[in-house]
Amino acid sequence: MEAAAARPLQVAAIGVCAETGFWDSLRRLKLDVLGTDDSPIPITGYYTPRQYEKIASLFRICPESILPPSANSFGDRNNCPVPGTLLNTNNMRGFQNLDRALILRAEAKKILHDISSGNVEENPSLLLRFLVISFADLKNWKVYYNVAFPSLVFDSKITLLSLKFASSALSQEEVTSLSKAFIEWRKSSETTVVPFFLINITQDSTATVRHLKDWKACQGNGQKLLFGFYDHGNRGFPGWALRNYIAFVSLRCKIEKVQFFCYREKRGHPDLQQSLIGEASFLAPHGWDAPDYVPEAIGWEGETIGKEYKEMKPKEIDLSSINPASQDEEKQLMHLKLMGWRHFAVNLDKLSSARCLLLGAGTLGCEVARLLMTWGVRKLTVVDNGCVSMSDLVKQSLYTDKDCGVPRVTAIVPHLKERCSAVEVEGIQMEIPILGHNISASNAASVLDDCKRLQTLVDSNDVVFLLNETRESMWLPTLLCADKNKIAIAALLKYDSYLVMRHGAGPGIKGGGMDEVIAQIENLSTEDALGRQRLGCCFCSDIASLVNSEYTGTLDQHSTVISPGLTSVASGKAVELFARMLHHPDEIHAPGDIAGTDTEHQLGLLPHQMQGSLSKCVLSTVLCNSSSNCIACSNAVLSEYRRRGFYFVMQAINCPTHLKELTNISDLKKPFACSKISASIPVNLEKLSSARCLLLGAGTLGCDVARILMDCGVRKITIVDSGRVVVSNLARQSLYTSDDRDSPKASAILGHLKERCPSVIAEGIKMEIPMPGHPVSPNEAASVLEECKRLQELVASHDAIFLLTDTRESRWLPTLLCANENKIAITAALGYDSYLVMRHGAGPGTSRGNPDGDAAADKLSAEDALGRQRLGCYFCNDVVAPVDSVSNRTLDQQCTVTRPGLASIASGRAADLFTRLLHHPDGIHAQGEIAGTNSEGPLGLLPHQIRGSLSQYNLLTLLGYSSSNCTACSNAVLSEYQRRGMDFVMQVINEPTYLEDLTGITDLMKSAAYSQVEWIDEADDDEIDML
Ligand SMILES: [Zn+2]
Ligand SMILES: [Zn+2]
Repeated sequence: MEAAAARPLQVAAIGVCAETGFWDSLRRLKLDVLGTDDSPIPITGYYTPRQYEKIASLFRICPESILPPSANSFGDRNNCPVPGTLLNTNNMRGFQNLDRALILRAEAKKILHDISSGNVEENPSLLLRFLVISFADLKNWKVYYNVAFPSLVFDSKITLLSLKFASSALSQEEVTSLSKAFIEWRKSSETTVVPFFLINITQDSTATVRHLKDWKACQGNGQKLLFGFYDHGNRGFPGWALRNYIAFVSLRCKIEKVQFFCYREKRGHPDLQQSLIGEASFLAPHGWDAPDYVPEAIGWEGETIGKEYKEMKPKEIDLSSINPASQDEEKQLMHLKLMGWRHFAVNLDKLSSARCLLLGAGTLGCEVARLLMTWGVRKLTVVDNGCVSMSDLVKQSLYTDKDCGVPRVTAIVPHLKERCSAVEVEGIQMEIPILGHNISASNAASVLDDCKRLQTLVDSNDVVFLLNETRESMWLPTLLCADKNKIAIAALLKYDSYLVMRHGAGPGIKGGGMDEVIAQIENLSTEDALGRQRLGCCFCSDIASLVNSEYTGTLDQHSTVISPGLTSVASGKAVELFARMLHHPDEIHAPGDIAGTDTEHQLGLLPHQMQGSLSKCVLSTVLCNSSSNCIACSNAVLSEYRRRGFYFVMQAINCPTHLKELTNISDLKKPFACSKISASIPVNLEKLSSARCLLLGAGTLGCDVARILMDCGVRKITIVDSGRVVVSNLARQSLYTSDDRDSPKASAILGHLKERCPSVIAEGIKMEIPMPGHPVSPNEAASVLEECKRLQELVASHDAIFLLTDTRESRWLPTLLCANENKIAITAALGYDSYLVMRHGAGPGTSRGNPDGDAAADKLSAEDALGRQRLGCYFCNDVVAPVDSVSNRTLDQQCTVTRPGLASIASGRAADLFTRLLHHPDGIHAQGEIAGTNSEGPLGLLPHQIRGSLSQYNLLTLLGYSSSNCTACSNAVLSEYQRRGMDFVMQVINEPTYLEDLTGITDLMKSAAYSQVEWIDEADDDEIDML
């Protein structure tokens, strides 16, 4: 090959192979370590001279690349490390908006600096510095990226004077000597990874390969000096690396002509047949020496001169093809990892290895088991003695009609597995020995067996959940947990109030040189092993009630009369308490926190007991220490148990008075101290069953709300959702199973509702709710308009609308339509650790005394139809119009990162609020009540808004009135809607600022006098609205 006349230098671009493993490493790094941090990450690429004729070698970015070269021991003759920078953005918009020209120049400036400062002589691979920009869309397991090799641009063209194959440019002696020198260079681990070097050939044809830093010493004496580099090789063109190499030569060596050597190999041996020798001339560039000079640069892969960078298509990698086995599990745990991005690092190992024993597989058992899986718990043992009955189905969230007659412990296993295949669950059918249970000679052996079996189970688990329906059956497990110092969490429900508590640690041992075994029995301390006062158990505080129920024996009959929704609330709190305890450094020994105090650790307060009531909208945290008279956890009982073992247990079960003697309970005869279970509210079942409910959203909230509404007696449900079931939904969205994967939620949910309540009339509608700030293209306009109209018809044909979607903007149109149609609207929204449940106010009435009025719009009154001030809606306290809130978000904001359990609590409250409102004589016009100030009627409190926080144990009832600047329910908006109908809606969808102008928010924002609307809860920095 012979270069004809002088011509502009052309070089071959570098081909990049970015391995899937690299992106998978990035995915893990992003999830586990980086979080929202999007600062540049130093990485390493790998490079090698061409090995095969006609096949250019690729630049590799592999799993090891995620570390910078300095921290990376990887690297060999076929993988010469090259430093690079990775810019991984948090969202697609950020990726698209990156100023590619600017960041390329910034990288080029680094190269220029490395040349001028002499860094390149020390580390020549700096000349090949590369740049990767990416967006790792972890939610969809995709990565979008572009790679660049920044290359300095000269003021004038570089001229190629000649280009020949090395074997024809050199003499035979030179070729032989040079081959030998290359073999040496490539053999030594010191030099094999150095891709830029000098070739010195003396007049007697002896060739040596030398380090770049020796360039001064090699000059003169009539010797040949070639600037060599590892060429990835592309036929007759020198590689891309030559450009920056020439910049180095020009700037450092101050010459204007260079002889270069493109080094190529053939299967590990120098290939001088294919290596190139050429000569190029160039003019010294201007201004490169100036310290602040930012050079021109090119180098994006696939870049064509003159094309806009923004038009560059990103490459796309699909990560779902790797690790298909572990992927489901990773998807299910992602929300827990995302919690660590802003809030607190969840200890997944601890959670997945915690062995949890659930006593009871009924209403509470189902919810707790499911929520534990959502927290990443993977080892469950469930104990129950009952069978699934038809009447259980609407209450016990996991069972379906096929399970009727099957033991719960058998039925529950597949239902848990089909939501999370990684869970290990065992169901054990057995009766838990009950205090006061009459032991006859014939059943003594089996009761004793059950006692022993329970002891073995408590021993082999880390946490015990007491979810049995009777307190009498909690006695033995409470005793066993106190004896073995196991975490025990109890949940008790009574009509519409609940108690959730953790039992205290077992007693420590007082010192005193006694025999170990005797000390374990005789020397029980009143403190725990850490020397702290022991917290109480569920028998510590009210001895009398147990005595009563034991004689009447009917607590279990009453206890099943539970207000719908209560189970969800109590289970959510019980599982939250468990997760907090597990993350507390002192675990079982952690002291009890009281709400309002500041003794919180990273997860929030860790109370001892929580008591709450749905009808009163109160929540209190209680702290009580272990009582020395306790029949389950006192030292008297524990030492007796340690001394006499199951003889004692059998005696106590058979004859509880023995316990009373033992613990010196004196007021045994005090009769009926237990408060009577309050009569249930006069539920109007007809009203409930005929109420037509429209649920917008069939996700976590949608599933729970639909289920609880059925339990309340609602039988007409329409569900709107546009999504499909994916694997990460299964643990959180209570109704779906793995069989539903890829099915539309709107249709999948129907079967699950039916199999729990055959009489329900449910309809599913797969449809996207039109959203403001999501402009539609002309060809989408017709279908969006159809959806608007459809939603309007749906709102008009239902009595109550539940807004359960996960973006703010999707609630706008339904809110407007509900206000316009005067329909009950209930919003449930989740933040990371707080929730908002509210009912929107009634729509405006029409003003009287305005006889002239062709435009109905002008007659909207400031009050509702009953002449009362209207309550506010979800948007009333906003100061910006709803816009596209998704594309700018980071991953954790896009996914609904909430504490597991929060959705259960909010759903329970939303359904409860609805039933109360439906029973109120004024219905939608009912005034908002505030806990503590309003006298509660027979229905209990009917608040306007309920805001609760899990970590702070706040429960606030709030009241806010409709704002005249509201973007959804103000008269300005409603009258415009009434005048222009869907034209108005379509304008809002396309132009979000239009709403702000219309409602005067724009002016409001400009006015200096603007102050926060009074009922914004300022302590809540969690931004409920974000989700
Ligand atoms: Zn106790
Ligand atoms: Zn409003």
